[in-house]
Order: sequence, then C-alpha cells, then structure tokens
Amino acid sequence: MTENNTTQRLNIEAVKRIAETVRTTLGPLGMDKMMVDGGGNVIVTNDGATILRELDTAHPAAKMVVEVSKMQEANAYDGTTSTVVLASSMLANSENLFSKGLHPNVVIKGYAAARNMAIECLNGMPNAEGDLQTIAKTAITGKSLETSEDRVADLCVETIEAVGDAREVKTLAAPGGSLSDSYLFRGVVLNKDFIGGGDEFNNWSNEDGVEVLLLNGGLTEGKDNTNVSVQVSDANSYSQVQAMGRDKLLAASKAVVSSGANVVLCRDAIHDTAIAYLRKQGISVVQRVPESTMRRLSNELGAPTHMFPDATSTTGTAFISRETYNDVPYLFLHAQNKEATLVLFGATQSTLDEIQRGFDDALGVVSLIENGDSMRYGGGSTYLAIAMHLRANASEVGGRAQMAIEAFADALEAIPATIAENAGYDPLDTVLAMRHALPESYGPDVENGGIKEMKGVLEPTSLIRSAINGATEVASAILRIDDVIGRRGAE
Ligand code: ADP
Ligand code: MG
Repeated sequence: MTENNTTQRLNIEAVKRIAETVRTTLGPLGMDKMMVDGGGNVIVTNDGATILRELDTAHPAAKMVVEVSKMQEANAYDGTTSTVVLASSMLANSENLFSKGLHPNVVIKGYAAARNMAIECLNGMPNAEGDLQTIAKTAITGKSLETSEDRVADLCVETIEAVGDAREVKTLAAPGGSLSDSYLFRGVVLNKDFIGGGDEFNNWSNEDGVEVLLLNGGLTEGKDNTNVSVQVSDANSYSQVQAMGRDKLLAASKAVVSSGANVVLCRDAIHDTAIAYLRKQGISVVQRVPESTMRRLSNELGAPTHMFPDATSTTGTAFISRETYNDVPYLFLHAQNKEATLVLFGATQSTLDEIQRGFDDALGVVSLIENGDSMRYGGGSTYLAIAMHLRANASEVGGRAQMAIEAFADALEAIPATIAENAGYDPLDTVLAMRHALPESYGPDVENGGIKEMKGVLEPTSLIRSAINGATEVASAILRIDDVIGRRGAE
C-alpha cells in the first residue's frame, strides 16, 4: 500500500469515528449524548451540530466534517446529523471502490455526477403537501420538546408569522418553569430592572398605558467634564466647573419631566443626581439599555430615540409590566404589536438549553417554508427515492464512474437505515420494504417496526439539498487529500 493510500485511509477512519458518535442520535428514537468538559460542566443534547461543536476533535479531516455540520445549521437550521452520516457513508463506500482499483479522482468525478443527478431529481419531485405545524413537529421529534410538541409547533408557527424570519426571533429563556407555559409576547422584553425597583411608580395597571421616553445618550454630567481636561487652580473654580455640569444635568432632567414621560429608558448611564430627581417626580428610570434593544423599542413604541431630552421630546405610549423569574427581574413592554419575544420556560438551565436548541431547529424549518421553500417527505424516504433514481440512471454514465454513482446511492440510503436501526429495527429490511413501496413515500415506522406512510413527516427541500451538497463537498475534499503535512508554527 502506498503512502497516499494510508493518508486517505486515516482521514476516512477519523471521519467515521466522529460520525459514529452522532449517528446514534439520528431520528425520532435517536439517543441523547451527555458531554462533560474539564470543569465538570454537563450538557445533554440530541443535536448533531452541538455534539460536534463540543467534541474535542484534533484530527484535521474530522474538523472539516464539524465545519460542514455548522454550515448545514447556518443554511437549513436542521439536518446536521444527516449531513455527517451522509458524508461518512460516502467516504466509507469509497473505500470499497479503492479496493476494487478505482482511482480517487474517478470516485470524486463520479460523486460529482451523482450529486448533480441527485439534486436534479430532488428539485423535480412533486412537492409534499402539509402544514407548517407538521414541518415543525418533524424537526422536534426525538428531542426533549416532544412532550409538548403541539404547543411547541403552534408557538413556532405563531412566532415566524409574527416575525417573518427565524434569524429575527428574540428569545427570553427563563429556568424554573414548565415548557408548556412558554408563549409569544408581543413586544420587547428588557433583561433589566428599574433603578430602585420602580417603587416610585405604582401605576402599572393604568388602562391607557404609560409614556415612555427613549434616550439614545445618557443623563450624565456631560462629556465636557469627563473627556476634556480642565485646568483648575483652586477648589473654588473646581466646584464651578462641577456646577456647570450639574446645571446641564438638571436642565436635562427637567426636560424629561416636561416631556410628560413616566418612564425613561436610557442607552448610557444616568447620573445619581438625575436618578434621584426623576424618581422624586415619579419617573422610573432604566439605564444601559443595549442599542439593538433601543431600536426595537423605538419600533414597538412608534416613537423616536432622542440624543438629548428637551421639553418637546416625543414619548411613546406603552403597557409595562415587571416580572421576576428565578429572582431575575424583566420588564415587558407592549405597544403596537410590531416586535415579538419568545418567552421560553424550562425546569433547569440545561434542559432549557436543549429546549432552545430544539426551538432553533423548528423555528428555522418553519421560516424556510414561510419564505418560499417547498416540502419533501421525511424519514429518509426522499433520500431513498433519489437513490433508486440514481441506480436506474447510472448506466447512462457507464464505465467506472457508474460504480461511484451506485456507491453514492448506497450512501443516501444510510439515512433511512440509520433511523430504523436507532429505533431498534433491522435497517436492511426497512430499506427493502421502503424500496418496494415506491413510488409511495414510506419510511421507518419507529413505533411498531416495518414501514409507514410519511404523510406527517415533512422536511424543507432546501434542507435535503443542502445536506447532499455539503456531504458531497466535504467527502470529495477529504478524498482529494493525499498527504497531511505538519505546518511549521502550527500548534
Ligand atoms: P438531524 O440532525 O439530521 O436533523 P434528527 O435526529 O433530527 O437529525 O433526525 C432527523 C431525521 O428523522 C429526518 O430524516 C426526519 O425526517 C426523521 N424523522 C422525524 N420524525 C420522524 C418520524 N416520525 N418517523 C420517521 N422518521 C422521522
Ligand atoms: Mg433534526
């Protein structure tokens, strides 16, 4: 065996090893992984991308697979484990081709042709019919959220319909509650409290709401004092300089009062003197609100943010409530239904983290469909249909590349096979039965064994497309490497 072959073999081994850690999580009955770091921190997860991210992989080929799972998550939010299982199967099957005397370049070319045929077949299939709830449920089956799957699916659909895109969803995750109490709050939630707890303001149930002033700057003694050095010769002139700042501060505080605001939300700090003054006037203050939150508040209130307050500064009317979860106070502001915040509850921080990861997947797939993507049947049935199409058309290509196309088709069937195997059923029997049922889309019946129609199991087309593309790319990239050379200066 030549040295090149050894490098390839070692790379393939490394990928198979890390694929092995995630493949048992695939599908509705996939198991979770518990991961522990050096500091004893534990995470329990079913999410392929999370497992791979947390794995301590040193092998360069394994790192490439971790990268492709991240890419899958960025493109399609879900399907990360599938991508890794596909890539690993493609590499494993290429070993058989090498042993039959195929050159890596022939395999790479064959895989590229197979990928093109597969994507064409995927795009040309009739769209699956179903609603957004079903697509959300498919994404969360097998995850800890499954216990409240109807509630979670409804919430995901409501959230995406309100917000438009999964990337725009803002979440408040509070430990110490029940997942089923999670809800979509129409408005902005501030991870902040009123200075002093807001005791001066006891008008929360005011039916007309309260007037809120948004300040993009701060209420401090002014930049002239802090940033510019002033030469002072004696104590008297020092207090004069101070008084100058205080005058401005007092003027600004008075302007806040004349604006009619009941509540001031400030991006920067507020000076103690101003706080005391405003609170005495019954005005509640919040300081150091992040800029992105200020923008959302401005949108929700339909009111501008002001750099400096003056008597004509516009306020916005809002309904504010103060809630405490697990001893942490939050301010809920609702005005015009422009913004939304997903409020998630879970028993503990670690269950909550896994709940959030499940929500990310489900919100993502709903968002893809809501923004124009079509659907395909899940449970590996679409991969299997594509595999059959490839086998039927491989002979058109002919020659040795045909063998690579067949190996690629076999790799696609690793998806339904692994789902069945993880549920405790025979992978080969399942795949054979699924093939027999074509052109109907049947997949593994994970509860009873055998196969069943995949009408209630749906995935975005782009998720499958991205998984096939990503897996082929990383597998080919790894096959192209014939030597690993240590770089000087690398750790
Ligand atoms: P991934 O990280 O690839 O999304 P998952 O563990 O989430 O891995 O498993 C996803 C696979 O499980 C998809 O192929 C999906 O269609 C399949 N699946 C989901 N629900 C069912 C079900 N009820 N029956 C069979 N397969 C299912
Ligand atoms: Mg998934």
